[in-house]
Amino acid sequence: MTTAIPPAVDDLVARNRARLERAAEIQRRLERAQPPFNKDTVLEPLNELMLELANIGSESSLLSEVHPELGVREAAERLAQDAEKFGTNLAQSRPIYDALGAINARDLDPTALRALTLTRQDMKRSGVELDEATRERVRAIREELVLIEQEFARNYRNDVGAIELTDVSELAGLPADYVQAHQPGPDGKIRVTTNYPDLIPFQAYAKSGRARRQLSFVNLNRCVPRNLELLKQMLAKRHQLAGLLGYKNWADYATEDKMTGSAKAAWEFVEKAYDATRAGSKAEMVDLIAARRADDTTANDLGSWDLSYYVEKVKRERFNYDSREMRPYFEYRAVRQAILDLNSELFNIEFRPVQVELWHPSVETFEVIVDGEPRGRISLDMFPREGKYKHAACFTLRRGVGGKQEPHGVLVCNFPDPSVNKPALMNHSEVVTYFHEFGHLIHVIMEGRVPWVRLTRVNEWDFIEAPSQFLEEWIYDYDVLRRFAKHIETGAAIPEALVKRMREARDFARAVLVQRQLWLASISLYLHDKDPKELDTTKVVFDLAEKYSPTKQDPGTHLEASFGHLEGYTALYYTYQLSLTVAKDLHTKFTNGLMDMTQAKRYRDLILAPGGTKPARELARDFLGRDFNFEAYRKWLSPAGS
Ligand SMILES: [Zn+2]
Repeated sequence: MTTAIPPAVDDLVARNRARLERAAEIQRRLERAQPPFNKDTVLEPLNELMLELANIGSESSLLSEVHPELGVREAAERLAQDAEKFGTNLAQSRPIYDALGAINARDLDPTALRALTLTRQDMKRSGVELDEATRERVRAIREELVLIEQEFARNYRNDVGAIELTDVSELAGLPADYVQAHQPGPDGKIRVTTNYPDLIPFQAYAKSGRARRQLSFVNLNRCVPRNLELLKQMLAKRHQLAGLLGYKNWADYATEDKMTGSAKAAWEFVEKAYDATRAGSKAEMVDLIAARRADDTTANDLGSWDLSYYVEKVKRERFNYDSREMRPYFEYRAVRQAILDLNSELFNIEFRPVQVELWHPSVETFEVIVDGEPRGRISLDMFPREGKYKHAACFTLRRGVGGKQEPHGVLVCNFPDPSVNKPALMNHSEVVTYFHEFGHLIHVIMEGRVPWVRLTRVNEWDFIEAPSQFLEEWIYDYDVLRRFAKHIETGAAIPEALVKRMREARDFARAVLVQRQLWLASISLYLHDKDPKELDTTKVVFDLAEKYSPTKQDPGTHLEASFGHLEGYTALYYTYQLSLTVAKDLHTKFTNGLMDMTQAKRYRDLILAPGGTKPARELARDFLGRDFNFEAYRKWLSPAGS
């Protein structure tokens, strides 16, 4: 059932062309079909068709982001364009829409009915009910939009910034393993890049404010000016598309079928969350600015390039917690094993290594056994390389569909590479990211038996970060950490006192950091609920910073040019915080500690396994026994009850 991906472009193209042809053949048959219209004559064949399309979409979007050969990445992008074009055409097929509409709902079980209802809703949202001239314009804009979005993502993937330091003293404050890995080159210069394993520790620890600001400046000017132009075009096309489809703007269109249901409700959520951060943020900023004043007596604010550094400094001074002390306990391979072990235990999963060569020799693959039954595969592509996706995300090589195919989920991250960094030590925050992304992966596996392609993932996009953020919590727990966090040199288990100090320090700056997230959410919403003709995107970023961001932005930077989510999440960056309110509420059930297997199993079966077979709110209700609410999140934002 599972085969390796041959690296050759020809194989990739041939396999997916064949998928496209099979899909086209089914579409032709469906469009010619005569009554009776029912599950067997319409819904099942359409499901087959959607499976072919989903497989093209999965493979092409993954390989366009990870394959080391440029030729394969480009071929994958073209396949994604073809699949997208095919998908829009299909969604606008009036004969299929009418055939679906003619099916007697009473003959369907609730899951099949939901698949039918959502499919028709998608078709309506693609313009199937519009006149042919308008539909054609929708198709044309969609085609253009895909090209723009792909180029935006491609630039983000390829453009790595770097600064050159002329003196080792500018590495002061960085952990010894980092300094070791950043020795001057033959020209006497030290190169620090914008790749995460370089960037994250540098922003957190480098004493040189000048160097931090310089690296941040370079990072926030990646993909400039090209992506600024592309963003403008992207916003214009989306706005135009929304208008043709009968919506005031893209934000209304994008939120309509989500938990929020409207841009207005999404904004209300952002405001409500922001209100909950006010008191905490005010107090935290006083402390952060005071910490900066110790270095610069004239300081009365904080630059965004200073935030991470001074958060660390306050944590050291007030809580005696130095996150650099954690690094020797988080060697990449040990962390990787721990994540597998922990998920095994929580969800009764076994991960069996599979020897299979995928797109890069560093990619590891595992067979996943759940409750003793094979349930698909996962692959881990974890280290930076040229031309590879720069952030951390969970992709699928295949989505699981009950009775048809098992899932194959793929994590794509940029962690320190044990074959390059010796030892490959991680920051605690990177370990949290690893757990987060693994949460998505487990979701892909668990929902892999849903029989309808349309329901193979949660329908409401703004719920999808809940399961991943839910899993982050485990990595703050001493009982979890002591199992695997062993010192790289001495082998000693992580000291309980260190974890205790980390937990005490953990609450500090939470409100400030959440405000930063809300600022990004506001950018993503604002850019999509206005007529883009009048928008200066950089001005929007800076204006919204005045309102939502507690830190000062560096003039001359262009955050939006490398804000990758504007391509994929469009208006929906608020997803992270809304999902977090759900995740925090789900934790309230774990009153017997995080290793409560009864709750873990309920969570697995009630939240993850149903995929999109139920509305997201219902999934949360099934687990909680009530509707989810904002209170656990509010409490988390003001732990002292401020
Ligand atoms: Zn995520």
